[in-house]
Amino acid sequence: MQPRRLHHTTDQGTLWCTHVGVASLYRLLPEYAGAPQDIGRMRERLEKEVLHELGHTFGLVHCRQPWCVMAASRLPEEIDLKDLQFCDACAEYLQRPGRGSVVGGRDHPR
Ligand SMILES: [Zn+2]
Ligand SMILES: [Zn+2]
Repeated sequence: MQPRRLHHTTDQGTLWCTHVGVASLYRLLPEYAGAPQDIGRMRERLEKEVLHELGHTFGLVHCRQPWCVMAASRLPEEIDLKDLQFCDACAEYLQRPGRGSVVGGRDHPR
C-alpha cells in the first residue's frame, strides 16, 4: 500500500502520513540503547507509538502535555514518560464530527 502523502520521519524511525502510519520496533528495543532486554517495556513503547501514529492519521499534531501520548519523543526513553492515552484536548479533538471516536481523555474516561 502506497502512502498518499508523507509528512515527516520521527527520530524513532517511524513514518506517518495522512492515511497510513508505520511503526518500527528497531529503536524501541531497550537493548538498542545498551539496556537489558525487556519485552514488557518494548511492548509498552510499541503500544504508545502505534496510538501516537493513529492520532496523526486522525489529524492530531504533537501535543505540549508531556504525558500525552501525542507528545513528541525524540528518544525512546522519552516514550516511557508518556501515558498510553490522549490528554483531554487531544481526546476532544478526536471526538469532533468527522474525526471518529478513538479513546477518552485522562480525566474523563469513557
Ligand atoms: Zn508524531
Ligand atoms: Zn495531547
